[in-house]
Formats: sequence, C-alpha cells, structure tokens
Amino acid sequence: MKTIVGLLYGGKSAEHEVSLSTARAVIGALDFDRYEVHPIFITSQGQWRKGDILTAPVASIEQLQFDGEEKPNDISSFLTGDVKYDVVMPLLHGTNGEDGTVQGLLEVLNIPYVGNGVLASSAGMDKVVMKQLFEIAGLPQVPYENFLRADWERNEGQIVEACEQKLGWPMFVKPANLGSSVGISKASNVQELTEAVNYALQFDRKIVVEQGVVAREIETGVLGYNDPKVSVAGEIIPVTDFYDYDSKYKDGNTVLQIPANIDADMYAQLEEMAIKAFKVLDCSGLVRADFFVTANNDIFINEVNTMPGFTPFSMFPLMWQQSGVSYTALIDRLIELAIERHTEKQ
Ligand code: ATP
Ligand code: MG
Ligand code: MG
Ligand code: MG
Repeated sequence: MKTIVGLLYGGKSAEHEVSLSTARAVIGALDFDRYEVHPIFITSQGQWRKGDILTAPVASIEQLQFDGEEKPNDISSFLTGDVKYDVVMPLLHGTNGEDGTVQGLLEVLNIPYVGNGVLASSAGMDKVVMKQLFEIAGLPQVPYENFLRADWERNEGQIVEACEQKLGWPMFVKPANLGSSVGISKASNVQELTEAVNYALQFDRKIVVEQGVVAREIETGVLGYNDPKVSVAGEIIPVTDFYDYDSKYKDGNTVLQIPANIDADMYAQLEEMAIKAFKVLDCSGLVRADFFVTANNDIFINEVNTMPGFTPFSMFPLMWQQSGVSYTALIDRLIELAIERHTEKQ
C-alpha cells in the first residue's frame, strides 16, 4: 500500500515562486514506489486546483495540468473529496501557508500534515510575536522597535525619533509577516528610514525596525518533534549588501559554506539556542534558525523559519545532507514526523 500524499504548493503569498521551486524539487525526490502523489496547486490569487495523480517526477512544474476553474472555490472540498490523504505536505512559504492558516484547515479536517502546527507557524511568521517569545526564552536579539500602520500615520515623527534613540544606524526595516527578504530594506538615515517604512507598509500593516549588526550569518536546521535534533551549522557568505531576495533566488553568487567554520564551543551555543527557539514556539517537524555572530563572538538570534527554503540547493536540506540525512531521507523523515504527531494527538 502506497502512502497517499497531498502536495500543496504555490499559494497566495509574495513567496509563491519560491514555493514552486520547492514543490518541483520535492516531486523530483519522492519515491513513487512508496508514495502516491496528488498535487494541489494554489494560485497566487488563492484559488485551489487539483492536478492528476503523479506517478513520476515532472520536467517542469508549470507543465502540470489542472482542472481549470477560475472562480473562487470551496477549498475544504479539495481535502475531503474521494481521496483520503495519509499526509499533506504544505510546501508553502509566507502568508496563507507558512503562517498557520492552512495548518488550521488541516487540523480541523483531521488530516496529518508535514511541518509546524498552527501555533508555531503563526508565531514564527510574525516577527514581533516571535521576538517577544524569544525574549521570554532568554534568547539574545538585536534591539528593535515595532509599530502598526495606524501608529505611523498618526505619529511618524515620534516613531522616527524613538528609532533613532533606541537603535543605531543602519537600521533594517521589515514587514512583520513575510519571508525571503521581501519588503526589507536597509536604512542609513532618516529619509531612507521613512522610505523603507513606507515600502514595508505595502506588504504588511505591522512593521519591525531593527538595529543593523555587522555580523556573520550562521544558520542551523532543527528536525524532530518531542526530541528535536540540530544539524551542522551553515554560513551565508554574501556578495551583496545583505541577503536580499535576488541573492537568495536569482544571482546564484551567494556561497553557502557548510559546515560553517566555527569552533565546537560556538556550535554548542547555537545548538542550545536553536533548541530553545524550537521549544518556545512549540515547533514540530522542522525549523531553520538564523543567527548573527559578531566579530566578538556575540550571538543574536535573528529569526526562525517554519517552512524554510527546501530545494536540494537550499540551506536547510544542505545542512542536513552534511549531517548525514539525504534530501530524500529528509522528506521521508518529515512525513514520519507528521504521522507521529497526528497519532500522538488522537
Ligand atoms: P527568510 O525567511 O528568507 O530567511 P526574512 O524575509 O524572514 O528572510 P530576515 O532573515 O529577517 O528576513 O532578513 C533578511 C536578511 O536581511 C538577513 O539574512 C540579513 O542579510 C539581513 N538582515 C536582517 N536583519 C538584519 C540586522 N538586524 N542586521 C544586519 N542584517 C540584517
Ligand atoms: Mg524569515
Ligand atoms: Mg522565510
Ligand atoms: Mg532569514
């Protein structure tokens, strides 16, 4: 008996394209002798489309055929129709997918699914909530300010002043709920700060302004459920000013150095911090924890990603490969963990 897998990808998110790459790669790596794979494509407008059952990898994800309804559709019927999924893989990044919404739908329908649950997904997607939880866990972070669009419209001057007082230049301005560096800019003076905030407000009503740090960017992967394990660390060696969208997915110049060149003591600290972050957000399945490490070896946690980039060339799978877990084995493990969590809950 094959395991019936529903593969959710695309999504109504600024990271739609990233999800397509992830899905293409996962389809390429699934063992079709073990899994019966049902693709479900979510358009960037949020419409769901069901594709034919896959029996082999596909040359291009764009070539998959779907039933062609353009109108809004009854989403839950895609998961409760004739097919009884043993597990669903929400290969979705960003809003409406990595943020607990789709996870909630799957919970309500009682379908096992890969990756983080509702709480971890939503808390991990909101950088402000995440920072507040990290603070409770005693995890060191860079100083930051946060505010809503409505605050900005009323008190722009006061907010700029507060940022200047509390944070040093440069500052990083981010939409609270996004990923892949979408909407993020670096600001080196008040004018740039104002522009950066107005830009970030195009993506979210909640904004984070962080003090910029000069630091190495080091990441680890966490995999598991009740007893999570941490991968070797990886370092992003940037060629651009910061690790922006283009350097993540377009230039291909950024070097991922795995394992990162750090000593055992530094690794032990990162490992402990990654586990703390995983636990305080009540994560399950997987998380990529992103850190800043300064020249003095001070470590700050930047964030976690509850559905990190997941192609064979992405940091998370590469770190696990270096830790002895191949891309295919990683997918198998995530499916196992999904079923383990579901069984424990019953
Ligand atoms: P992803 O989910 O793809 O990892 P994201 O959109 O959640 O990205 P961040 O990881 O918070 O965004 O930031 C993106 C990049 O911006 C970082 O990898 C880093 O290069 C730079 N950056 C962000 N915050 C700071 C900071 N406080 N100081 C220095 N650089 C920063
Ligand atoms: Mg992120
Ligand atoms: Mg992300
Ligand atoms: Mg990041």
